[in-house]
Amino acid sequence: MNKVALVTGASRGIGAATAIRLAKDGYDIGVNYLENSDAANRVVADIVALGQNAIAIKADVSCENDVKGLFQQLENVLGTPSVLVNNAGILYQQSKLVDMSVERINSTLITNVTSCFLCAKEAVLRMSQLRGGKGGVIVNVSSAASRLGSAGEYIDYAASKGAVDSLTIGLAKEVAEDGIRVNGVRPGLIYTDIHESGGEAGRVDRLKDRIPLKRGGQPEEVAAAIAWLVSDESSFTTGISIDVSGGI
Ligand code: NAP
Repeated sequence: MNKVALVTGASRGIGAATAIRLAKDGYDIGVNYLENSDAANRVVADIVALGQNAIAIKADVSCENDVKGLFQQLENVLGTPSVLVNNAGILYQQSKLVDMSVERINSTLITNVTSCFLCAKEAVLRMSQLRGGKGGVIVNVSSAASRLGSAGEYIDYAASKGAVDSLTIGLAKEVAEDGIRVNGVRPGLIYTDIHESGGEAGRVDRLKDRIPLKRGGQPEEVAAAIAWLVSDESSFTTGISIDVSGGI
């Protein structure tokens, strides 16, 4: 029986590294993306070269209809997932609260929080042993920002990740008896494209001296923590979030 994992926002950055890592661990992968089909197709090609199956699926995970279609397409092509990695996330231009529009705040919350609820709901409906499923694992990608607050940069983003941490705690308790574990990772400063969205592509290098380990992290280092949470090695772990942040 093939093992199937869905990684949201898997065309680039942490999601792409996670998709490839889980493929190395023997999973067929649903590579979700929003716009960048070329990047998503490159990740699919890398996975196929590793000997696993993969499909790129365009879907806005903040939109309920898209999420339903995403899971349906995945199920039709690769099979029912036993793993969901809620990774897709965004941030906007560095600003203070007083300069944030309601549209920006709501977009951040819907894209980073509602998306995790919608995808987790579809996953639980399929994985729940109480509903006839085979159990599974959900990993939510939060951020060290949930602890640090991102003052002067994007407290809307930090607050969205605080909500993701609470989702991890609550859902883990809610679905433990369904045979589903729910955990999170809180990356720190990782070298990906996301910092360009905040208007500072070089943000990791500017701030790396404040990190106790004195360097930024690589997406593969976050993927390794996610892979452990997905694996049976973490079979007695649920409802926690692992900091992958170099000590910050
Ligand atoms: P990234 O390089 O900017 O990549 C973002 C990914 O999310 C892309 O694959 C993008 O697809 C996808 N995406 C964005 N909005 C989407 C939507 N509405 N529906 C579906 N997919 C969507 O980001 P990253 O740095 O790897 O971040 C991944 C996660 O880690 C995020 O949740 C982020 O908050 C978290 N994180 C990152 C850092 C860091 O320093 N990098 C630190 C802490 C936490 P397209 O390619 O199609 O645009």
